[in-house]
Amino acid sequence: MPVTLLNWIVPSTILLCGTGFIAIRFLGFATSRWGYALCSLALGYTLMLFEVDRFSPFKQIVEDGFILLSIIWACRLLNDRLKLKSSLLFDIALMVSSTVMIAISLVVFKSVRLETLFVQTCCAIALWRASLPFSRLARTKADRLLAVVFLLFAMLMTFQCLLYLAAPQTSDAVGAWRASVGGNLVQYTGLGGCVTLAFSVMVATTWDAIEKYRRHANTDPLTNLLNRRGLDALLLSSRGRQFRSEPTAVILADIDDFKAINDRFGHPFGDTVIVRFGALLKVHAGPHGCVVRLGGEEFGVLLPGVPLDDAIAVADMMRRIFQAERWSQNGITGQFTASFGVTLVKDRESVAAAIERADHLLYDAKRAGRNRVVGQHGLSLDTEDDRQAFAEESARHHVPPRRAANENAR
Ligand code: GH3
Ligand code: MG
Ligand code: MG
Repeated sequence: MPVTLLNWIVPSTILLCGTGFIAIRFLGFATSRWGYALCSLALGYTLMLFEVDRFSPFKQIVEDGFILLSIIWACRLLNDRLKLKSSLLFDIALMVSSTVMIAISLVVFKSVRLETLFVQTCCAIALWRASLPFSRLARTKADRLLAVVFLLFAMLMTFQCLLYLAAPQTSDAVGAWRASVGGNLVQYTGLGGCVTLAFSVMVATTWDAIEKYRRHANTDPLTNLLNRRGLDALLLSSRGRQFRSEPTAVILADIDDFKAINDRFGHPFGDTVIVRFGALLKVHAGPHGCVVRLGGEEFGVLLPGVPLDDAIAVADMMRRIFQAERWSQNGITGQFTASFGVTLVKDRESVAAAIERADHLLYDAKRAGRNRVVGQHGLSLDTEDDRQAFAEESARHHVPPRRAANENAR
């Protein structure tokens, strides 16, 4: 049976997608392994188009091997996305049993149709086995897209198996089946499936790349916490709605005399203190709390649904635990402290406005001697007596007034 140009479209389109995936790796996309899997599939389809004069099961075993291998490969790549374990033993068993069944179909039953049915069945088993657990765990947009496409691909393979069983009997020659209506349907639905898969992998890896750069931009590289830009993005997102819809407590925390820590222990040690302080805040903020590194050694903590008194208690626990920690390096030991300002996001107020108020409370804590928590209803400095007491306390600790302190920090 002559091979038509149309028959060549199937492997050449898949090969084009595969080589495209390998090439765009140089643009920073993690698609090369998908590209190799597609190229292996294209190789299987290409071998299918060459007819040998002498009957031999080896050519079919090799071409079917390439097709099944590429499907197993793609399934492993899918699992890798969610760090799901792929069983090497299962994959080898599938390859071996498919090879044995192909050999039996060709040598014992002399049936190309039976041989193809076995390959398709093994492909369908591999696809169902990978796509079902993956689709249950898929959370991101990219993973959900791939889950849908793999499930559709598994359905397609199952449909093709049924088509093999239901299609009218043709001559058992390879070309006869390929030229039949059923054969054509299988080839072109297969092509459609592969192109859809390639397209969805492209879209998914593009989303992955966008997500990766967004995460980089929104995350502080030292502590792995959100940075100020990340906080703004979170507040604008649907996940940030909880901070706007419920009473949210805002804690601002700043390590005391951090410049002296850097001077005494060195900058790298200072970095370690920042990382450990951020981790401490994260642990005590709980699963619903959000910790942000606002800059230098200053952090913000948002606690949705937490009343002011509870937030002050949380801040005080953070303060006490940080103060209790003993630090040492090269025989030099030290104990460090931090100051905290705590407030609530008022009705119809922006989180940014509450952070600014917490920042004022934090500086009140600094001016009152550091290593303390000042809540919104704490040191308010509203009365003349408050201001007098505060001025005396500040003078005792040689802390500059807020304006000067802010300027120093700059
Ligand atoms: P205060 O108690 O008033 O907060 O005094 P302070 O010394 O902690 O505050 P100040 O703002 O005067 O100094 C902060 C220092 O933090 C200055 C800066 O060099 C240092 N710093 C900022 N970012 C980093 C960082 O990422 N790593 C390290 N090691 N130091 C940093
Ligand atoms: Mg400080
Ligand atoms: Mg600071």
